[in-house]
Order: sequence, then structure tokens, then C-alpha cells
Amino acid sequence: MGVDHPTSATTTTAAEDPLRHVVVREAAGERDAFYLAHLWSRWFGTEYKHGHRYASGKLPYPLFPVAGWSTETIEMENLAVHGVVAGHDPPDRDGAVQIGGGFASIMSHEHTVDEPPDGGFDAAALAGERNAWLWFGVVDESWRGLGLGRRLFERRLQWARDQGADMAFAFGWEHEGRTSRPLFEAFGFIPVERFERLYEGDRNVCPECGALPSNDRTCTCAGVVWATDL
Ligand SMILES: [Zn+2]
Repeated sequence: MGVDHPTSATTTTAAEDPLRHVVVREAAGERDAFYLAHLWSRWFGTEYKHGHRYASGKLPYPLFPVAGWSTETIEMENLAVHGVVAGHDPPDRDGAVQIGGGFASIMSHEHTVDEPPDGGFDAAALAGERNAWLWFGVVDESWRGLGLGRRLFERRLQWARDQGADMAFAFGWEHEGRTSRPLFEAFGFIPVERFERLYEGDRNVCPECGALPSNDRTCTCAGVVWATDL
């Protein structure tokens, strides 16, 4: 044929990194704290044992340090918390848009053992003295599959190491046909125990299985307790 198709030029530039204008950084300040609270509420419900509901300017307790709010009146053993946010910040736009985030905290042996439901494993024998718990990590639907979740995960894990944590723990969701297993395995975590209905009775919001306060259902998703030495 010997004719250059004009479309060939566009196909050769398709390899541009889709994350080239994405920045992953430590969450700091009220804007970030409330963004994380929004993710927590949106994906994991609003009712928690250890916090305020996210409403009317209240934050869940663990996000107080992210916001820079005083924790003096809160009876918590420690509040070593590290939040991360991902922002999309292209040069031709005025300001970054948050597209994902998560947080981690340091927990004592006692609190770590209390966290998972009663199961077949000996949490007391497993947990270290100083443990990191990686709470939720969420990436906007349109930004998934690009490695952003791993970056959010890695930042929190590095922070846990810097804090001198012995071990790291996390709950990993197991939805029908979809699992966070590859993420955990990539960072050397081992599955400790699978719970068939990890959040039943405890989480009235779950976009994955359709639980909402308006339909009175609670999350029926399975979950795995993951752990690794640090
Ligand atoms: Zn669910």
C-alpha cells in the first residue's frame, strides 16, 4: 500500500502514563480529613464503634490527627495515624481533584487482638506488641486498574515500618468475582482467616453488595484477615 495512515501516529502515543499527573501524598488538614471521612462513609457505612458519625462537621476519631484537631479529650490509647490521598493535578486545570485515599494507624497488642471477629485463629499469639492496621484504601472507579491502590498501600506500609511496627494487619474484602488478594500477596501478606460475612450486622453501607440504610440490609461480603511481619 505504501500509504501512511494518519491514525498510526496516534496509536504510537497511546503508551503515555495515565498516572502522570497523579500525586500520592500524606493527607493533612481538614480538607483531606473530611475527604477520607467521606470515603469511609461512602464505602464502609457510617456507624462505627469508636467514632462520631460523619455529619455536621464531626469526624471519626481516628481522623482527628489528619485534620490537625486536638485529641486531648479523647480516651484513646494512641493516635498514631497516617492518611494518604491521591490527587489528579493536570497543569491545565486549577487545583487537584482527590481521586483516592486511605489511612493506617498504630495499635497496641491488646487493641489489635480485639479488632477481628472471633474466629479459628489465635490473634493473641499472632499479634506483635506494636502493630499497624491498614484501614480502608479506596480508588475512584474510573482510576482503578492503574496501580494507584498499590501506591496508596505502599505509602502506608512504609509509614508503619518507620513507626517501628512489628506487624501489619488489614481486612481484605472478598466480593463475588473480585478480591483484593493480589494486592496483599504483592506485599507479602499472608491470609490468616476468611470470614464469610465479615461485616454482617455491623455495616449498613456497602456499594458492592447493595446494603444501604434505606433498604435495611447489612453487608454480606466475605473478608479475609491479612497479616505480615514488617
Ligand atoms: Zn458488602
